Amino acid sequence: MEFRTGYIAIVGRPNVGKSTLLNHLIGQKISITSRKAQTTRHRIVGIRTDEDAQYVFVDTPGFQMQHQNVLNRVMNRTVTQSISDVDVVLFVIESMRFDERDEKVIALLPRDCPVVLVINKLDKVGDKADLLPFIEKVSASFPFAAIIPVSAKRGAQVPELVREIRRHLHEGEPIYGEDEITDRSERFLAAEIVREKVFRLLGDEIPYSISVEIEKFETEGNLRRVFAAIIVDRDSQKPILIGKKGEKLKEIGTQARKDMEELFGKKVYLEVWVKVKSGWADDERAVKSLGYE
Ligand code: GDP
Ligand code: MG
Repeated sequence: MEFRTGYIAIVGRPNVGKSTLLNHLIGQKISITSRKAQTTRHRIVGIRTDEDAQYVFVDTPGFQMQHQNVLNRVMNRTVTQSISDVDVVLFVIESMRFDERDEKVIALLPRDCPVVLVINKLDKVGDKADLLPFIEKVSASFPFAAIIPVSAKRGAQVPELVREIRRHLHEGEPIYGEDEITDRSERFLAAEIVREKVFRLLGDEIPYSISVEIEKFETEGNLRRVFAAIIVDRDSQKPILIGKKGEKLKEIGTQARKDMEELFGKKVYLEVWVKVKSGWADDERAVKSLGYE
């Protein structure tokens, strides 16, 4: 069988299970790289390398349409530009749930690149017979290349999904070495992990415009020293993040550190604090300086 390789974007509204799915898709084989990342405009979030294919999963920072500000406009621009030069897009939704937020994502899907509809959380569907009319309804909304129901949490049907993705990759040599791991990618992952914990612990209390900046990332043998700033729009958001007696921030830090230790296979010293960057979400220049160009 010929070797195939290519870029894959995972999109969908928050909470449909994109991160969970990505973790299953790359599994233990996680080998994040950025050494040759200049070959792509995308931020690589994970790579899976099998005998017969290399799957490079990339980030699409858009699809966060909770607030209409400059940040979102810039991000959506990025999405529309960057999404069309991947080999395949996975559009993830939740089983039996399809609302206007999903429809907004559909509006941004590229027409010139295959889109696979991934219906996640299959394990939550009591009566599987309900699924068929649901699939019919959703499939009418876009010309999907394929429709695959999965349970990302349990890993159910993930191999089927991988096989479907492979069909859309192009013939070619692996782009990245299997064991390439760089500090820069760890740094990027560290920011993503902190960001994920903020949303996991605070959910709707905090707007999507928050960001995380890794101000310092030190490598010292088996230790990583990470200094992360959570950047909020307004002063009023600061106490929400910090919590009573600093409890929230402490919890964010503890959970993030554990995840980093697991992912990097290293000891991690993590410091997290909150910074107010007043109005940054409405300042296009600041947005660009954070790398969303
Ligand atoms: P994201 O915002 O799209 O990245 O979603 P996450 O991966 O963070 O998942 C959101 C929530 O859905 C988490 O609580 C997950 O544990 C849960 N979740 C993800 N996949 C599944 C699944 O297949 N079944 C069930 N029951 N829950 C899931
Ligand atoms: Mg996520």
